[in-house]
Amino acid sequence: MGSITERLNFVKKNLKKGVRLVVVSKFQNNESIIEAYNAGHRLFGESRVQELCSKYRALPKDIEWHFIGHLQTNKLNYIIPFVNTIHSVDSLRLLDRINHCALKYNSNYRIKILLQMHIAQEPHKFGFSFEEIDFFLEKKMWKSFRNIDIVGLMGMATFTKNQNQIKKEFTSLSIFFSKLKNQYFFEKKNFKELSIGMSDDYLLAVECGSTLVRIGRDIFCKKN
Ligand SMILES: *Cc1c(COP(=O)(O)O)cnc(C)c1O
Repeated sequence: MGSITERLNFVKKNLKKGVRLVVVSKFQNNESIIEAYNAGHRLFGESRVQELCSKYRALPKDIEWHFIGHLQTNKLNYIIPFVNTIHSVDSLRLLDRINHCALKYNSNYRIKILLQMHIAQEPHKFGFSFEEIDFFLEKKMWKSFRNIDIVGLMGMATFTKNQNQIKKEFTSLSIFFSKLKNQYFFEKKNFKELSIGMSDDYLLAVECGSTLVRIGRDIFCKKN
């Protein structure tokens, strides 16, 4: 499969109904993104603030931008006005700053966020532990964040070829997601997103209940 359009259509065919595809366009030039855009795709993910801002300026305004990378609080102001969803909220301090920036931007503004959970075995990956999030939600603190809409959870599996390991990690997150939904968010319809799955593991992720897969290389890189 040669073209971006062909690879995009191939990935989409593999997704179940109800699973949305975030095309991860980091490091890609605008021409490549436009090819996916012209094939009808509108949902893209970026992991660096500067890169996202310059692409936002240059590309069509009906693109829905998701931020998926580690986010520094001092750069928040640049993306708050236009970013649709932030997948990578990995600390309470960041949550607090996002709420603050959104409020300052517009007091009625609510920004969609996902809590990034640490499910991998690599210690350097970012994210909350299950215990931290339980504690946070139990205390009902989140209800005071009026300019934030917690719409779900995000996670990254261990970088390994061991499919059982990846499946175990995705399943544990999926179970935790259902538990939170029943325990804290049962009356909140918006809490519905599970952002798991990348180029190498998205089929497993979909099996485990993913609603948002984040795929870059499978769409932009030619395979031999
Ligand atoms: C780069 C990246 C992806 C996409 O990874 P691929 O292996 O290129 O599909 C997904 N999620 C995050 C957080 C990323 O940084």
